[in-house]
Amino acid sequence: MEDLRPIVSEGQIGRPIVIAGPCSAESEEQILTTARSLAEYGIKIFRAGIWKPRTKPGGFEGVGEVGLEWLMRVKKETGMLVCTEVANKSHVEAALKAGIDMLWIGARTSANPFAVQEIADSLAGTDIPVMVKNPVNPDLELWIGALQRIYNAGIHRLAAIHRGFTVYGKHLYRNMPQWHIPIELHRRLPGLQIICDPSHMGGKRELIAPLSQQALDMGFDGLIIESHCDPDCALSDKSQQITPDVLNFILNTLVVRENTQSTESLALLRQQIDQIDNDLIEILAKRMRISREIGQYKKEHRMQIVHTDRYDDILKSRRKLAEELGMSGNFMQTIVEAIHEESVRQQIEVLNNRTK
Ligand code: PEP
Ligand code: MN
Repeated sequence: MEDLRPIVSEGQIGRPIVIAGPCSAESEEQILTTARSLAEYGIKIFRAGIWKPRTKPGGFEGVGEVGLEWLMRVKKETGMLVCTEVANKSHVEAALKAGIDMLWIGARTSANPFAVQEIADSLAGTDIPVMVKNPVNPDLELWIGALQRIYNAGIHRLAAIHRGFTVYGKHLYRNMPQWHIPIELHRRLPGLQIICDPSHMGGKRELIAPLSQQALDMGFDGLIIESHCDPDCALSDKSQQITPDVLNFILNTLVVRENTQSTESLALLRQQIDQIDNDLIEILAKRMRISREIGQYKKEHRMQIVHTDRYDDILKSRRKLAEELGMSGNFMQTIVEAIHEESVRQQIEVLNNRTK
């Protein structure tokens, strides 16, 4: 992909590129009210989904083609560029016919090469800019493959959107960021603009500002943020949408650094630390679950909780291992004591729980 070009130039839009608008177009009034406020705050690219991929059937699946007319009205009234998500050939054809400025491919679609190829084929012969979200699963090659399919159809104004990856179970993020993946993508395709979607990543309003700052610190080119005139009444993704006023406030707090070279590697290292701390906490939680099982066993067998010999062995062996790995034995002793204290507390809780 030798000839990648920006979806919009910095001169045209400034840095970072900001794309904002509701998760879904719901009514003409909602779209126009939101768009007018965003335009007043200087936003130049408006987003709204009109065909909504929903995890389960029965949810709000988008307004469909009529939304294209509303988007074109936004364009005419505010001068903003307008963009929407496409997932198949008929979406592409309808969007192109209506005159939409830019398209994006959603995370569920970019995970499916058949769907991406169908979109690519229907884009051939046009030069509309396209943004490709990361696939739901953390697979860089699949993401690059999707970009290649679109590129091979002749679309060279391309960008990638990091919106985080699906993880099973309960986590802080709706979709886990894995910054090293877009950073590696940037290394492999330096001409590709990279945009962060903190709304789908965090899934919560309060995570939008910190995730946006993190993305900028890592040298991302832009942000795509969901904004709705009345987020609490939104028909989709309401807990992650913010009003144009809040969006403007957040954008004003963000620090855009000139030279991202040095902060990029620092941020990368910090990201690794965060990841390791998360792993440590999850492992500790696992250890505590096992402690509770031991507590249950001791309860059933009427055994006492603390066995000094065993505790002594633990302390000595962990000190020794820590020293072998270049850490101080005293440091490890402090940690093991703290872990032991929490284990005992968990076991006492099991002991006192008469229902079990
Ligand atoms: C969206 O942008 O509204 C959307 C559906 O996002 P994703 O494909 O990232 O889930
Ligand atoms: Mn959404």
